[in-house]
Amino acid sequence: MALRSVVVRGVGAVRRAILRSRPGERDRMLAAGRWLVLAPHPDDETLGAGALLCALADAGRPAQVVYLTDGSASHPGSPTWSRGRLAGLRRREARAALRRLCGVGAPEPVFLDWPDAAPPAPDSSLFAATALRLARLIQSEQITNLATTWPLEPHCDHAAAAALGQAVARRQRGRVRLYWCVVWGWTIPESRQLERTAALPILSPAAMTRRRRAALAQHRSQLGGVVSDSPGGFRLPPAMKRTVADVQVLFRSTEA
Ligand SMILES: [Zn+2]
Repeated sequence: MALRSVVVRGVGAVRRAILRSRPGERDRMLAAGRWLVLAPHPDDETLGAGALLCALADAGRPAQVVYLTDGSASHPGSPTWSRGRLAGLRRREARAALRRLCGVGAPEPVFLDWPDAAPPAPDSSLFAATALRLARLIQSEQITNLATTWPLEPHCDHAAAAALGQAVARRQRGRVRLYWCVVWGWTIPESRQLERTAALPILSPAAMTRRRRAALAQHRSQLGGVVSDSPGGFRLPPAMKRTVADVQVLFRSTEA
């Protein structure tokens, strides 16, 4: 993977998205109804939607955040960090990151605890039960906007989150707008498709970018700072850290 291209391609697409976005749309969307952010893993709330979460909290409308997987597959084979122990750590890191992004008044996050990197098929009972649970949450919290990862993201859990978002939004029959966050999607050439997609840019002033970077720093296990004995342990590439910059763009799904 040419990680340098993550930043180059992402920056170009983001700049073009800003140019073609409609003036005032960001403020209209932030003021319109309530948001649910469905993050495939702890850290995607920051990498994919950190600016959105900050802006909503600052506007007094903090989002409901839902984590799809338990994040327990990031450091396989560690003799000291079992999947259960790692899942507990990642949950604590997620809560700490959300405090940086949203402050203390935000709704409690929901952890759905799907097994990391092994999403159930869309026709499975677990998928259907999760879609139903999210639909109920949308109803009880009067959610009108749902943001989750882009369907072409090159990670099985990110694609599953997109499929879940689509299934849930479809069930709402137009009452919920669906937005895509891009995390790993910038690493693939298909991201050029986003240049033709309606965009919602969230500008991130310096103070907000500092909060987002502080949030990302809470995910110490993903930055190489905790688990040192996993043979194939994940470590976030530096190029991905640099995507936490002065603007973050969401893209509007054409389906909902
Ligand atoms: Zn992820």
